[in-house]
Amino acid sequence: MIEQIEKFETKLIDQHLAEDRGMIAVCGYDDRVIKNGQFGGEVLESVFDSINILGLVYFMPHPLYQRIFQHLSKSVSVLSPEDCETRTFLHDIPVIEKFEPELIANALSRRKGAVFRSGAVIARGTVTIEQAFIAASSVVHALFINYFIEYWRKIRRGRLTSSDRNHFEHVLEGLFSLPEGTFPLGCGPFDSESVILKEMARAGKAIVDAGLVDSFFGNVSYTTEGICYISETGSSLDELEGAIVAVPINGSSSVGLTASSELDAHMRVVEKTGCSSILHGHPKFSVIASMMCEEDGICQHDCYKNCPKLRDLEGVPIVSGEIGAGGLAKTLPARIEKDSGAIVYGHGVFTTGTSDFRKPFDTMVEIERMARESVLRRCKD
Ligand SMILES: [Zn+2]
Ligand SMILES: [Zn+2]
Repeated sequence: MIEQIEKFETKLIDQHLAEDRGMIAVCGYDDRVIKNGQFGGEVLESVFDSINILGLVYFMPHPLYQRIFQHLSKSVSVLSPEDCETRTFLHDIPVIEKFEPELIANALSRRKGAVFRSGAVIARGTVTIEQAFIAASSVVHALFINYFIEYWRKIRRGRLTSSDRNHFEHVLEGLFSLPEGTFPLGCGPFDSESVILKEMARAGKAIVDAGLVDSFFGNVSYTTEGICYISETGSSLDELEGAIVAVPINGSSSVGLTASSELDAHMRVVEKTGCSSILHGHPKFSVIASMMCEEDGICQHDCYKNCPKLRDLEGVPIVSGEIGAGGLAKTLPARIEKDSGAIVYGHGVFTTGTSDFRKPFDTMVEIERMARESVLRRCKD
C-alpha cells in the first residue's frame, strides 16, 4: 500500500499536477487509513468513515492550476466543463466551500472528484487509489480547459472585466512550455511482436511525458498483417507493458472486449488510410481550440455530437462524434489521412503514421503547438 501511495505522489509531481510533496495526501484504506505525512490529517480520515471508498487523493495543485481553480470556483457551487472527460467520466465538478468532512463526503458521494475554493483538488476511488488519481488528473484537465473556454466566451459576449484580464495575464506568465527535447522512439516498420509491444509502450510513455495526455485517457495502436495491437481499456499509457491486446481485424475474435473503447475508430482509420501506427492523446490546447466553435445558435450545445460546420485548425480537420461505433468511429476516418492528424471536438487528437510512432508523435506536438498559438491569439480581446 505504501508503495502505491508513493507511486501516485510521484506521478502527481512528475505530471506537473502538483508541485509540493508536503501538500499532497494520497490515502488508501486497509483496516485503517494509510497515508504519508500530515497533510489533510483527521479530516480525510473521517471522510473514509462516512462514505464507502478505498482510495482518496487530496492535494494543492501546481500554482498555475491553483490560480485558475480559485478563479473558477469563486462564486459557484458546481462547475460544468463541456469537454469529453467531464461528459463521459466526471459529469460535473462540485465546488466545496470549506475543508470539512461532511461537505467533502457530500460532494464525493455524488461525484468522483471535486475542487475547493482554495484551489485544492480532491478525488476518490471506490476500489483503488489509482481510481482516485485518475479522477484527480481528469478534474485538473477539465478545469484548465474550462477556464480558457469561459474566458473566450466572455470576450465574445463583451463581458470581460479588467480583473478577468489581469488574472488571465497572470495565468499566461505561468503556462508550461511545450514539450522539448527528444523522446526515444524506434524506427519502423516493426515486424516482430516483441518489438511492436516495446515500441507501443515507448510511444505511450512519450505522450504522457510530453504532457499530451493524462495517462489514462489516450490510446496507442499498431496494425500489421491483419492484427491490430492496441492498448487495453483503462490502461495507463505510461505503463503499457502487459496491457496491450492483439485483435484480428476481420473481427472474428472476442479479444476486442478488453481493448480500448476507441478500437473501432482505430480499425476504421487503418482501413481507410492504410496507416499502421495511431496515437491518441488529449492535449489541452487542441481540445480548447476545437471547442471555440463560432457557429452560435446552431450547434452550441450539441456541437460535440454534430457540429453542422466542417471546421479545421490550420488545415487539421476538427471532427465531432462521441466515443464508440456510431460516433467518432464514423466521423474520424472520413476526414483523417495517412501521416497526418485530426482533432475530435472537445476530446483530443488522433495522429497516424506509416511505419512507426515518430511521425505521429511529431504531428501531435505540432498540432498542439498550433492550437496553443491559435487559442492565445483568439483570447486577446
Ligand atoms: Zn480519448
Ligand atoms: Zn460547432
